[in-house]
Amino acid sequence: MLTANDNRGADSVAALARESYRGIALYSTPRGRCSVDFSDNTNLWGAPPAALRTLAAVRDEDVTRYPVAYEPALAAALADYVGVSADMIACGCGSDDVLDSAIRAFAEPGEVVCLPEPSFSMIRVFARTNGLCPVAIPLTRSFDVDVDAMLETGARIIYLCSPNNPTGGALPRRTVEQIVENARGLVIIDQAYAEFGGDSFTDLASSGRPVLVTRTMSKAFGLAGLRVGFGIGSPELIAEVLKARGPYKVNALGERAAIAALDSDRAWVDERVDEVVANRSDFRAELAKCGFASLESSANFVLVPVDDCAATASRLQRAGIRVRALPGLTGIGDAIRIAIGPWEMMQRCLDAMVASA
Ligand code: PMP
Repeated sequence: MLTANDNRGADSVAALARESYRGIALYSTPRGRCSVDFSDNTNLWGAPPAALRTLAAVRDEDVTRYPVAYEPALAAALADYVGVSADMIACGCGSDDVLDSAIRAFAEPGEVVCLPEPSFSMIRVFARTNGLCPVAIPLTRSFDVDVDAMLETGARIIYLCSPNNPTGGALPRRTVEQIVENARGLVIIDQAYAEFGGDSFTDLASSGRPVLVTRTMSKAFGLAGLRVGFGIGSPELIAEVLKARGPYKVNALGERAAIAALDSDRAWVDERVDEVVANRSDFRAELAKCGFASLESSANFVLVPVDDCAATASRLQRAGIRVRALPGLTGIGDAIRIAIGPWEMMQRCLDAMVASA
């Protein structure tokens, strides 16, 4: 018979968990009082109207029934958006899910996943939770990836991010092509911020090399809360990603709203993207006038090096403004990352930064 004493404590349960990811903490979303949240690069204008109308008209069957496995209707709408065939699309619960599944599908436990540093922080986590070894290669002084050093790792998976989070820089086509031509295994090109600038690398998914380009509905399309992302690759590669992912990972409401946005909200999205591009350049110019040198950005955020990011972020938080504090970034030092939204929000951010400097 079980007694209370048989109830093992948290420490012994943790010891039962997979060793490769001991020490990884649960992700914590900053919450609490703030009037403008610039911390996660979502669409600060709001959600696309056709997607909202679809959600407001939700039907019983969308709730009571399982969606169709692997979301063929959503894959078709996404394929039309990026100009490929539907069998070249793998959807997921955010592009996080597609990245995680691809990492699981294309490397054996113990093999290397190579990533630039700094870049999207979740890649290390996905590598480790899948039993793989993340190897980070610092960006060059001009914030390009170090092609030779990445290739020399012999990694089974090379991860690139363009525009890169958190620096904002887009990779030159030649850099990406050199990696794709010479890599030993899968090359993932994370283009979560593709709508906001830089080259699209969708064409490389049809190059005959093992390439997966990942995209998301969370940023330009304003649907982060619905968790819809996707990957683009050859039909054979996509089938492997979907096997590793499993069925039913996109919920029916997210699927219907994303299809509505892709069918009817593209002009709305384009207008918001144009505003981001204009406001990004004006915001960087105003920051420079106030003595803050930000990094060149092709994304919907800018990275601003500061002396002490935690102190700067908490001063801004007191003014109701949340930014992402990024301590000790390789080659950069402390920095804050600020999303780009409507100009009145950017002006409030500037005013608070000047007041708290
Ligand atoms: N890639 C990059 C570079 C990101 O910044 C993010 C989100 N912050 C993601 C992928 C994941 O986005 P989602 O899961 O919402 O598609």
